[in-house]
Amino acid sequence: MYYTKMLIPTIRETPQEAEAISHKLMLKAGLVRRLASGIYIFLPLGYKALRNIEKIIREEMENKGALELFMSALIPKELLEESGRWDVFGPEMFRLKNREDREFCLGPTHEESFTVTARNEIKSVKNLPLTLFQIQTKFRDELRPRFGIIRCREFMMKDAYSFDKDETGLDKSYNDMHEAYCNIFKRCGLDVVIADADSGAMGGSGSQEFMVLNDIGEDQIASCTSCGYAANLEKAEIIENETFSSDSLLSDKELIYTPNVRTIDELCGFMGCSADGFAKTLVLIADSVPVMAVVRGDRELSLKKLAAILKCKDLVMADEDLIKNLTKAEVGFASPVGMNCKVILDNEIKHMVNFVTGANKTDYHYKNVNLKDFNKYDFSDIRVITPDDSCPRCGCGIKISNAVEVGHIFKLGDEYSKALDCMYTDEAGERKPMIMGCYGIGLGRTLAAVIEQYNDEKGIIWPIEIAPYKAYILPTNVTDPIIYEMSVRMHDELVSKGIDCILDNRDERPGVKFNDADLLGIPLRITVGRNAKDGMVEFKRRDEKEVSVMTYSQALDKILSVVK
Ligand SMILES: [Zn+2]
Repeated sequence: MYYTKMLIPTIRETPQEAEAISHKLMLKAGLVRRLASGIYIFLPLGYKALRNIEKIIREEMENKGALELFMSALIPKELLEESGRWDVFGPEMFRLKNREDREFCLGPTHEESFTVTARNEIKSVKNLPLTLFQIQTKFRDELRPRFGIIRCREFMMKDAYSFDKDETGLDKSYNDMHEAYCNIFKRCGLDVVIADADSGAMGGSGSQEFMVLNDIGEDQIASCTSCGYAANLEKAEIIENETFSSDSLLSDKELIYTPNVRTIDELCGFMGCSADGFAKTLVLIADSVPVMAVVRGDRELSLKKLAAILKCKDLVMADEDLIKNLTKAEVGFASPVGMNCKVILDNEIKHMVNFVTGANKTDYHYKNVNLKDFNKYDFSDIRVITPDDSCPRCGCGIKISNAVEVGHIFKLGDEYSKALDCMYTDEAGERKPMIMGCYGIGLGRTLAAVIEQYNDEKGIIWPIEIAPYKAYILPTNVTDPIIYEMSVRMHDELVSKGIDCILDNRDERPGVKFNDADLLGIPLRITVGRNAKDGMVEFKRRDEKEVSVMTYSQALDKILSVVK
């Protein structure tokens, strides 16, 4: 393409509205524009890069035998009522009515559409297994759209669903998708960490997130510095630390008057102890049953782990009234001492002696509390991992990082097939629910994550497969016929070989062109200048500093070998 025929509206100054590097660069290089909060337009260069990601995804999905189809973005209310999710989705779902007052939503996700398609179209066990996918726009009314296309209200997503006759089949389909995802992100040049999103306590790998470590990420993961283990922060397993001595002399508990002491910091000051000498009791409601969860004073309770252990659907913090009712004290003085409700102690509490807890009495705490002071309790791993913990697989150090989720694979089992009657008839004539898996990739997010990973102070540095154009031909002077003709010849030859390239035919100073070439991040640059008369050009990779002078045909061969 000739630069002057293209739409590349680059911006010189750094856009104020953008926080993330990828967002800044996408605006500066003219890849996207914001239409409204969380709503973006892909301009030609940005769309071409997005299409390249789409192509990689499509190829890798098809390599695994997945079939592409295309669902509607508009979903009738009745379909989500069938699964019971019309009311479950909160204000994130865009709802609308047509002229006949029928209700619809703009699909935030497509589980129901895929499940009813399988229900209606798959008749026999002979059609299983089957994996279907689409690349489709999704809509979510995010409360706080952020970081350009990383968290926005309308976005492109690849979603796939597998249908199997049993769990063994699902394992195979899931592993295929796992492999496809590894290939996809590798081809995108992305360093991904695959994090267990399933609780270790539940014991399986029923769900994994493909995460890109980045400070702008709104998720947190714990990863091992040595063996590659990674997990969602709230789900990461904790191995018990045995360094505490349990043979210490157990004292008898003592009631202490602690007026106006509410927070752990205040309590530590008052008692002259540190937070790790305190057992913090949280009161929760699990499917309408009160539960006390106890973690060390300096630890954080993981609601996800607790919910998995309690096997409850709904787990929330108890309100003030309930706490008062249960403990007969103001909020802030709860303790398992003398209680007969369900009590779950974090494993770490096992190794604590003579610790401090509330006293279930306003303005009082106990000191020198020990397990013998609790009526009944169970131990479990219910706290959030910290950098002080060690890797549950190999025992090495744990690092906590922010990360952006670019993909998620998930074993759904029969939840949707049962709800939506998606059954098949087996060899014995028995009707059984199909066993499902679901697999998503955010395309825009992947694109932004690639830019986050590949950039420098001058601009984007595209990995070759995603680059919207592979080569940038830069004549230093378009009014010099030798220079210009050689540039056009290179452009035409590359195009004839199927290589997308840009010919910067603008009558601009070379400095302006060099800056734009660097900002756009096209991987290979050919500068045609004064020594064109000797048949020579300059070749430079965007990701390297060196410039090599070579003949026209050497440069051509070089481009072909890098791109192919
Ligand atoms: Zn490890």
